Amino acid sequence: MKIKFWGVRGSIATPGESTVRYGGNTSCTELHLDDGSLIILDAGTGIRNLGNELANSGEKVQACILITHPHWDHIQGFPFFRPAFMAGNQITIVGPEAKGVALDKLIAEQMNKIYFPVRLSELQAKIKFMPLKEDTIEVYGAKVQTIFVNHPGFTLGYKITCNNKTLVYISDDEPYSRESARLFTNSEPEVLKLFENYPGNPNQRIVDFVKGADVLIHDSTYTPEQYQEHIGWGHSHYLFTLQLAEEAKVKNVFLFHYDPSLDDDTIDEIIGKCEREMKRKKYSLKLCAAKEGLEFQF
Ligand SMILES: [Zn+2]
Repeated sequence: MKIKFWGVRGSIATPGESTVRYGGNTSCTELHLDDGSLIILDAGTGIRNLGNELANSGEKVQACILITHPHWDHIQGFPFFRPAFMAGNQITIVGPEAKGVALDKLIAEQMNKIYFPVRLSELQAKIKFMPLKEDTIEVYGAKVQTIFVNHPGFTLGYKITCNNKTLVYISDDEPYSRESARLFTNSEPEVLKLFENYPGNPNQRIVDFVKGADVLIHDSTYTPEQYQEHIGWGHSHYLFTLQLAEEAKVKNVFLFHYDPSLDDDTIDEIIGKCEREMKRKKYSLKLCAAKEGLEFQF
């Protein structure tokens, strides 16, 4: 498998001098399976540049886009994804539905004429929708498993396994604690119940899903200090990501979905802090900060 990051920012695109090294586009990661099949993880603003590269190649595009949830920073780039405008291309969009709102409507509504000049139905590519809950499906020969994570609305994490290699992608996810459960006011009660009823530590649910992954890409929106001010917003801090990766015996972990307030120098500092923490606790995993343009093969 090979991944390339096209957008690593959470919440809103943050272009500018202070974010130029790690990048300001919102969530989008390209994944190629060993046979070249293309899976795209989320359609944040980063998907625009990926789409331009695919369109400029002149090749027909067949791709499956796995959407974690329909918050803006995960779907907002789709109306600017050039392959969707080109006849002969085939795009499958997989993702969770909201209560009473079907997946195709979640994507189409951001393109209704109030918000956008071109409607979903006017796109020339063949676009299919596959709504998903917690399940296991096959995509281009790879096994794709999903889990509901702790984030407002229904939000999925994805585990993709092919040729004995595993990638886990969890872009938005908050540590679950029984003491803070009353603060998760925008979470879906059925998702909270999955954590609440899990035997032992509720976060073990995520650890068990991630277990043994070759690569984990995980929400590291906040510093631990920022997190204290944002409990219930649905995001993690980098120490939780580290702990999760270590407990799950992950080989490589990528910090991802940075808060717009984290500039390049702050992310450098975070990496330094993580390295010291890993040394102190004798963690054996490899850590990397996701950045636009970074590629990784495994
Ligand atoms: Zn997000």
